[in-house]
Formats: sequence, C-alpha cells, structure tokens
Amino acid sequence: MVWRTETFKQLDQPLRRVLGEATAKAFLSLGVVTLGDLLRLLPRHLMSGTDLTDIDTLINRHRGSDDYVALMASVNHLAVHGQSPRQRLEVELSDGRHSLTATFFGRDSLIKYWQKLLSVSSRGIFAGKLGWFRNQAQLAHPAFVMITAEGLVGSAQGTKMARAVQASSFIGLYPQTSKLPTWTVAESIDLGLAQVGEIADPLPEAIRQETGLPSLAQALDWVHHPATRDQFNQGVQRLLFDEAFAAQVTMAYRRAHRSDSQAVARPLRDDGWLARFDAALPFQLTDDQRQVGQLIARELAAATPMQRLLQGEVGSGKTVLALRAMLQVIDQGGQACLVAPTEVLAQQHLRSIKTLLGPLAADGLLNTDGVELVLLTGSSTVRQRGASLEAISSGQAQLIIGTHALFSKSLQFHDLGLVVVDEQHRFGVEQRGSLFKAGPTRPHSLVMTATPIPRSVAMTIFGDSEVSELRQLPAGRAAVTTTIIDQVRQPSWVDRCWARVREEVEQGHQVFIVAPRIDAQTGDDWASIEELSKRLEQPLAGLKLAVLHGRLPSGEKTDIMDRFSRGCLDVLLATSMIEVGVDQANATMMVIVGGERFGLSQLHQLRGRIGRGCLPGVCLVMTTAEPMSPARRRLELLATSRDGFELAAADLEQRREGDVLGTSQAGRGSHLRLLRVLEHADLIEQARRLAELQVVADPEMSDPGVADMVQELESRADDDALAVG
Ligand code: ADP
Ligand code: MG
Repeated sequence: MVWRTETFKQLDQPLRRVLGEATAKAFLSLGVVTLGDLLRLLPRHLMSGTDLTDIDTLINRHRGSDDYVALMASVNHLAVHGQSPRQRLEVELSDGRHSLTATFFGRDSLIKYWQKLLSVSSRGIFAGKLGWFRNQAQLAHPAFVMITAEGLVGSAQGTKMARAVQASSFIGLYPQTSKLPTWTVAESIDLGLAQVGEIADPLPEAIRQETGLPSLAQALDWVHHPATRDQFNQGVQRLLFDEAFAAQVTMAYRRAHRSDSQAVARPLRDDGWLARFDAALPFQLTDDQRQVGQLIARELAAATPMQRLLQGEVGSGKTVLALRAMLQVIDQGGQACLVAPTEVLAQQHLRSIKTLLGPLAADGLLNTDGVELVLLTGSSTVRQRGASLEAISSGQAQLIIGTHALFSKSLQFHDLGLVVVDEQHRFGVEQRGSLFKAGPTRPHSLVMTATPIPRSVAMTIFGDSEVSELRQLPAGRAAVTTTIIDQVRQPSWVDRCWARVREEVEQGHQVFIVAPRIDAQTGDDWASIEELSKRLEQPLAGLKLAVLHGRLPSGEKTDIMDRFSRGCLDVLLATSMIEVGVDQANATMMVIVGGERFGLSQLHQLRGRIGRGCLPGVCLVMTTAEPMSPARRRLELLATSRDGFELAAADLEQRREGDVLGTSQAGRGSHLRLLRVLEHADLIEQARRLAELQVVADPEMSDPGVADMVQELESRADDDALAVG
C-alpha cells in the first residue's frame, strides 16, 4: 500500500519488524498485526497504586469463562495445604470486600520461595487464567509482582513491570494471553512508542480544533502513560474519534461521488403492472409503507443509482414494497432480481410473490399475458438452468428470483434495472459486489433487512446507503404471547407444552418446533432434532409432522416447505433455517427448544414466523439456563418485548456487532477496533457531521491524512457494504 503520510507508513509496519518474529506471533491472538494495532491496544483497567481491582465485578464479567485476567489485590492470607512433596500454597487475594483464591503448586523449596515473595508486601498484580471449581473462581498459578516501597519483586519479569509503573502514576492492565502477560504487553507498547517517536497528526487541524481532542501523538502517550484519569479518557476519545471519522469520511466521499455513476431512470407509469397491482391489492398500505414506497419510486425515476437499505420488523411488509419497486422497473422494460440467502427462502419468495401478483403473474400455461417470473438457484437442473439463462439474457424473464447463483459471472442480464437483496446480513462479501458492477450503468439497489439496526450502527455499517425504516406493523396483526419454560424446574410444563401443540393442531392451525442442532451431542440432548423426534413420537402421535434442516437434499426441503405452506403438514420440526422469510398465516404456535442457544435477534426472527395473519400466536421457549444467568435474562427480555429495535439494541449490548449481523459478516465489523456503535452513538454523529464538512472543504480528497484514513479503512473493510461504493 502506498501511504501519503509518514504517520500511516510508520503505523502500518508489521509488528515483527519492531518486536521480532516470536513476540509478533504471540500478539496475533490479540488481533494485533501492525505497529498501529499495538499502539491502539488499550488497557482494560487503569489502576493507581492505591486502587484495588473490584473482584466481584471482575468475576462476574468473566463468569464461566477461562479468560486470562489481571488484577491488583492485597494478600489477605497464606496457607500451605497437603503433604510434602505434593504441597500447594493457597493465597487469599482481596479487594477489601471480596476475595479470590490463587493456588500455587510446586516443590517445597518453591512453595517457600513464593511464600516469602508474597509476604514482602500486601499488594501486588496477579495475572493468570481464571478457573472454576464448584462455581467458585480461582486463579491457578498466576504470575505476579508485589509492589513494595523499594520497587517491584515478583514471580515474573519484575523489571518490566517496574518500567511500566515508573512511566506513569497509573498501571494499565492490558488484555493478555498465556504468552503475553500484561507487563509484557506494556513493555512491547513502550518499545513501539519509542520506535515511532514524535508522529505527525494525520487529522486535518481544523477538525482537531473543532473537536478539542488531543493530537495523535499526545493521545497515544496519554492512553499508555496517563498522569491523570482525565488524560487517559481524552486519549481514548481521540482514538475513538479517529475510527468514527475514518468511516464517516469514507462514506461521505462515496455519497458525494455516487452521482458520478449512472443508472437508467425508470419513472412511474400509470398504465402498467404496478398500477394494476395497486388496484388489486387486498389491503391498504400502512403510512410507513406509503411514505417509503414514494421515496423509492422517486429514486428509481432518477438516473443516479438508488442505494437504499430498508429495515423493518419481521412482517412489516417489506416484500410488498420490494415487489412494487420491481414492477415499476419492469414497467419501463427493465429486469428486476430478488436475491435470497438460501434456497428455501428463494422458493418461499417465489411462492409469496406469485400469491401477491395473483392473475398478474404469467403461469406459462394459460396465462401468458403476465409478469414473467424465473427462479434460478444452485439446484436447478441443467435443463431448467439452460432455459432460465436463456430467458434472462433474452429479456423474456422480467422478475428473477434466486440465490447467490444469480451472482454467477456467466449470467447475462438483458437489462438489469433493480437488484433487491433480502436479508442482506447473510451474504458473503464479494457476491453483492459482482452484481452491482455489471455493465456501464449500475442497477438500482434495495437491500432489505429484518434484523433492525439502530441508527448509529446503520450509519457506520451502511453509511453509504440511505436508510429507511418500516416501524409500523400492518393493522390487524395479531398478538403473540411468549412464555419461558424452565425445563429443569418445571418439567410438568414440558408435557403440557406438547399437549398444547396438539390442541393448536386440532383447531386447524400449524406449529413450528425449532431446535438449535440436528444431531444429539449426548444421549439425552433435548436441544437436537435427533432427540426431539424420538421424544415427540408419543405425545404428537397421529399428527402430520415433518423434519426440515439444512442437510436434507434440496428437492426434499422444497417439497416439505411446499406441503407445509399448502397446509398438508401440521407440525414442522426444524432448525433455525426457518428463521427468515417463511410466511404462513396459519402457523400460530412455535416451540423453541434450547432457547439459550440462540441470540436475541435470532429468537425474535424465529418468533416472527408466527402471528403473521390475524390469528393470535403462542411462542413457548424451553430452556435449561439458570434463572439469573445472562441467557435467561435474554429470554425474559424476549418475552416482554416484541419491538425488534429494542431487542436488537439489547442484543448488541451483549455481543459484538459482527455477531448480530450474522457470522458471514464477521468481517464487516473488522474496520472497527475500539468503537462500539451503540455506546458511541454521539461520537459517530459528530464524526459524520464533520466528515460532511470535510468533503465540502476538500471535494477532491487532496488532504494526505484524510486520503490515508480512507485508504486504510477500505483495505480493512474488504466487505460488501463498504466495497460496493
Ligand atoms: P416482511 O417481508 O417485512 O417480513 P411481508 O412483506 O412478507 O413482510 O408481509 C408480511 C405479510 O403481511 C404478508 O402476508 C403481506 O401480504 C402482508 N401485508 C403486507 N403489508 C400489509 C398491509 N399494509 N396490510 C395488511 N397486510 C399486509
Ligand atoms: Mg420478507
């Protein structure tokens, strides 16, 4: 990469050049690759010589994990247990209120040595792996240094620690691994800081002034060697701002340059398919739908490519809007395609679009005067595929529905005017890019997601798209009640639950039963399709039940979905593959087994499969999670809220952005190092405002610092949302 500033050149150096091969390798597990990554590694905690770590908080944060932790604590009590030569030294560490036991094993002479070191002073830093014994936290064999009036003495590398402590009045406790205790991290950072020396600030001076933040050099010094907590906080703010600003300025330039690329204008016609569709629509659009629909219609009518993200609750009526947009394009002779993340969903879309179109869809037999629909998926037979490809390239196919097979390079569209991507977060990276890059003009694009994303997330991740929301659910949407069933404490409810399934079916309704896994992991693994199908045999005897999961041959999957949507099946026992898109108004009940295995947004998606018509829904979530555990709280939140935005926000607080957006998009969050999109929403807003000013002040991006920020971000974020621009 060619950098325009000395600062970026320096920070982009691979770590091995500064620290050597072995240490650089150890840093990989902390996500540190370059010198810049290293310098931006922040202490998790900042301790002054008098603070002790709050043990209770520490333990709760890491409960159940085997994380490496570091803490400053005082030694309350030392005791040697066991018989020589199998002795162990138990050390009770304390923060004055709570305690944590550290255990050392060794020969007698070692035990004696440790005993002596640990009693020279009451206070020290302990770093090691948390272990759990009968739900009690323990530190086995932590490395430690004791802080004495004369300096530091300890089990490991006391001198390194001494350097770190002398350099500031605070001790930063860094994230660490088995190979990199906190003091080694601190020492490596000092080496790195010495290496870069005084670095020039890449942020335009006007912006730095406006924010009142310290310079980059100052910020790096302050986060690692603060004289006060305020210095540390200011340094962190500056690093956070840099991330937010890099993302926002990149997207501000993209928005400014979007009008450089051309699309074919597809203005509304009042005598086409769309007009006929609207006239025949059996319901009224909600106000939200109407507003967003008008916006989309205007954008399609322009010669600048539309790039819009449409987010809305499950069942808020996005698909109807997408279909209307597609018809507008088809009315002007263009083709539209709808891309779904899985084959089952593509099939489902085909079915629901056919239903929505009714007599307006050509059926290839009697009705030849209608919109020509084509389905193209990976499992189409060679002959089907040949015919579909032919229809797509000749322009006969007007509305094409498919999976990623649509992204195939060999696919030639006659005149692709609009790409609708459903459930965007499930797509891999390059795929979306390839569709967009076709031809001298770009198609308009509409991305739909049912995982609602808070505004600050949307701005960061989809900042180059315009964002619309459907917050209203169509009128008459029935209520769904959600009940948590504690399998361990309320075993009788489980039987009651299956009886309830039967009652629901007897009323002529359909039921989903969802499990997180296909195969049972143990002999008694409830949360698996394998075990459940055995256990349900008796309680659900006589009901028409089918099993659906990803490993079935695709023809079989289609067949099962087909039977379910025609009402020929009573119960569908499935994995979370039914999470999105399945639209069955007659399905009124869902039982989720192993609820604790799912994320909150995912549970919300799953539950969105019921209560889609006017029939009220019942969602029963079985769990084995402990009553006060985080997993259990997640389920309780689900039971009290049906607001996807609220649930997504709660979910984000618990997890990293990448998880929420789907694992295939893990790379998406990769340009975010420190920034947490929810927590730092205000900062992101500020960065966005300043980024817009910057683009006005410097439309050609001639500022070398800004150019480097943009370049760095683009190289990190090799993902679709950012790369498509
Ligand atoms: P989404 O794609 O957002 O999950 P859909 O577009 O699939 O939602 O809509 C869910 C169901 O609600 C569909 O059966 C659809 O026909 C119906 N629907 C959509 N908009 C309305 C509306 N304004 N009034 C009544 N029903 C609607
Ligand atoms: Mg939908």
